[in-house]
Amino acid sequence: EFEILFVGRSNVGKSSVIRKLTGSKVRVGKRPGVTLKPTHVRLGDLLVTDMPGFGFMHGVKERKQDIVKDQIVHYIEDNAERIDLAVLVVDGSSFLDIVTRWEERNEIPVDIELFKFLNEMEIPVILAINKVDKIEEAMVDHVLDAIVEKLGLPSPWNMWQEVVVPVSAKENDLKKLVSCIRQRMHLAKRDDLF
Ligand code: GDP
Repeated sequence: EFEILFVGRSNVGKSSVIRKLTGSKVRVGKRPGVTLKPTHVRLGDLLVTDMPGFGFMHGVKERKQDIVKDQIVHYIEDNAERIDLAVLVVDGSSFLDIVTRWEERNEIPVDIELFKFLNEMEIPVILAINKVDKIEEAMVDHVLDAIVEKLGLPSPWNMWQEVVVPVSAKENDLKKLVSCIRQRMHLAKRDDLF
């Protein structure tokens, strides 16, 4: 059995990406209430796990956001043996602003913390930078370079072909993510998945 884990801040388009990849009906858009438990989609022997989104949530206190982060960390620790790949989804059009806001408070953004944590746990990670359609075309390379640098990867971003993948769920531009997932999970010959 294989497991692929999707993590990301709320509203980055994580559900949209998973839905486009798997064709399954995970919930998209604002959620009534906050789910703390991961949800799973099964594709043959591949388990696709959607972790609760962290960060911005309507009517949710800061303390509860820490609970979400702890839940994610515990899930990863408890299931590390089984998790073959983690996809960290970020919103390319807002990532740098959010990071700046956290840094002004002398805090480390949860995305960056989780990226480092997954690396420490030696779980292969793909950084899916979503909503690239919202970035001005002439600025895309510059923005992507700045994002990977914030995550501790030296720029240019396109040096990290196996790790960094710009996507747009809105424009159905996920081909590179699919091939990257296949490559990293050694699923190249599995036409039945994705
Ligand atoms: P989640 O909270 O991370 O699961 O995010 P959702 O999948 O629910 O998407 C949040 C919002 O972003 C929705 O309004 C989506 O239509 C929108 N969205 C998702 N992907 C994209 C994208 O690639 N480009 C743009 N412009 N909007 C997107």
